[in-house]
Amino acid sequence: MGMPPLTFNRFFDKRDTKDLAGDEKLMRLALENAAKARSDGDCPVGAVLSWPGGVASDRDAVGTESDPTAHAAINVIRKVAGMHRHRRLSEGVLYVSREPCLMCAAAAAQAGIREIVFGVRDPEHGFITSGKYDEAVKSLGLSVKGGVLQEQCLEAGVPGRGA
Ligand SMILES: [Zn+2]
Repeated sequence: MGMPPLTFNRFFDKRDTKDLAGDEKLMRLALENAAKARSDGDCPVGAVLSWPGGVASDRDAVGTESDPTAHAAINVIRKVAGMHRHRRLSEGVLYVSREPCLMCAAAAAQAGIREIVFGVRDPEHGFITSGKYDEAVKSLGLSVKGGVLQEQCLEAGVPGRGA
């Protein structure tokens, strides 16, 4: 199974091992979306939002939509908020094949999402592991777990690094 997931704060402790299979299943769905993005020439990043009673997925579409904000995480948050008229998704968990950037992490927090699970790290733009946004990260108050299916993410061409 490779490297164990990295837990970035204590809030994930209770679901860390128990829900790993569920996390991997949803990360696989994110990777299917990353493959769609890749085949369209977009950045191969996919995202899944799960909430009690539902799951939705989307992919990066920055190139195909000529929209620099069309990151996978933003797209799936917009999709779920639009479909379900939920403005706040406080029970949702966001899965992204690559560590979210600050824009996506802030959008998740704005939507009321409290938990993010990601695959590979993005040491350049990642909101946590780049180390550029430590103060902002504290105020966002998100629970974050990284490294889920990171080998599969890297094999799928998701830009980023393993643990
Ligand atoms: Zn982003």
